[in-house]
Amino acid sequence: MVFKEYDYDNQPIVEIVNEIMADAVRNRASDIHFDPTPDKLKVRFRIDGDLVDYAYVPNAFKKNMTTRIKIISGMNITESRLPQDGAIKTELEGKPLDMRVSALPIVDGEKVVIRILDYSTSLQGIDNIGFSDVNLEKVKRMLDVPNGIILTTGATGSGKSTTTYAMLQRLNVPETNIITVEDPVEMKIEGLNQVQVMAEIGLTFAAALRSILRQDPDVIMIGEIRDNETARIAVRSAITGHLVVSTIHTNNTLNTIERLTDMDIERYLLGTALVGLISQRLAKKLCPKCRGSRPATEYEKLVIKKAINLDIDNLYTPVGCDDCLGGYRGRVPIHEVCELDQDIKDAITNSTPKEKLRSLVYGNGKTISLLQDGLKKAVNGLTSFEEILRVIDIETDFGDGDEELRMALLGKLPTKSAEENEEGNEEAATETPAVTPAPEPVTTPIEKAPETTPTASTPEPPKPEPVRKVDPNNPEYEIPTEDKLSFNQSDINFGEEMSYDDFGDDYEDDY
Ligand SMILES: [Zn+2]
Repeated sequence: MVFKEYDYDNQPIVEIVNEIMADAVRNRASDIHFDPTPDKLKVRFRIDGDLVDYAYVPNAFKKNMTTRIKIISGMNITESRLPQDGAIKTELEGKPLDMRVSALPIVDGEKVVIRILDYSTSLQGIDNIGFSDVNLEKVKRMLDVPNGIILTTGATGSGKSTTTYAMLQRLNVPETNIITVEDPVEMKIEGLNQVQVMAEIGLTFAAALRSILRQDPDVIMIGEIRDNETARIAVRSAITGHLVVSTIHTNNTLNTIERLTDMDIERYLLGTALVGLISQRLAKKLCPKCRGSRPATEYEKLVIKKAINLDIDNLYTPVGCDDCLGGYRGRVPIHEVCELDQDIKDAITNSTPKEKLRSLVYGNGKTISLLQDGLKKAVNGLTSFEEILRVIDIETDFGDGDEELRMALLGKLPTKSAEENEEGNEEAATETPAVTPAPEPVTTPIEKAPETTPTASTPEPPKPEPVRKVDPNNPEYEIPTEDKLSFNQSDINFGEEMSYDDFGDDYEDDY
């Protein structure tokens, strides 16, 4: 679907490229993809995790466009057979904008991807990045520990850098020496000593870390623990009096512990060093302007009852309006924050089997699981039940200890109505009823439900509201104002306002 049609014959390519970047920022895109195909260059935006077609550039202008991007990102334009990296630094409406650019030769030309680095979320601080109250308290307690390791874990694109930077911001006080080793340095923060890894000249994570320890640090941030040597240095630094903040590519508390114990580190040192594990995933956030409410299915009621012991009748549901993409706008993090108490530390040291470890981590509600945190956020209207099911991994997130919950999620446990009615079958249990906006928003005893706008429960198509209602207690719900952005490089006329409806809904899901 051609979403934006440029007049390639008459509009200079310089202007078109500027406009593409401005449009991407206006639409909160995290990346811009330029995909060469045999007959065109496809331009796509990644918005809230999904790629959306934006424009098709005819073959005759393909090379010009790629060259223009390579020029402004400081790449060698005579080289098109080897991968290259570049960067664009510019300003939009006085706000600094950093973009990281990558060019990769593929059979149909050069594929260019522009990553738009957005620091605004990290800069909101640890209090405003989507932690539930209970989890926020835990994270703050971890950050008060003078030495040890705090790991944020998750897949690529799970927002773990945002969380890590927000933690560093809290630790960033004048009396502290913070040194980071990153690949790449994503966000420059005043007060931090940030080291860029350059493996090609031998400055690896491990090499940089060895030097850092001679720089009298209090806090060390390691971009990512990727290998045994980095892990060993991290542990050694932690037990010699430093607070180490890092990330690792695992998906939940137990998998992280398993992964770390598989590395070549003495278990008793690991048990001593680990302070906290934050696992994170991103779910799409329901658009607060148009979200509706619908009766929950028996299946949903059962899963919510088993997971968070709540009886609910209704669930929030996506509707869709001019301000969002299919009822969603932005994303909300789902967390699992595990504080390592002495029992868990001992279990790591003593190689306790995984299922025993599971009960130590989750038993007595000590750690709120990703599913539980997600369902609470769904019940409170931040996201939808469907989104939580999408981000939960039934294979790896559950074990023997929570077999009943796993069966409930798989739709293999009889629901209440099926129990009452012997004829009830599994099919009926997972059936989804038609969406009918209910008059009352769901409220739960767990947290105050965010204020709903009057349009949330009216069946008519939502009308634009003159004033956007923002609950001051829910900064997550603040909708950024659609600033008119402009590049300082040249004057751009943005023309008419863009509507999300133009995107269509056949975008692909890569999560
Ligand atoms: Zn909406």
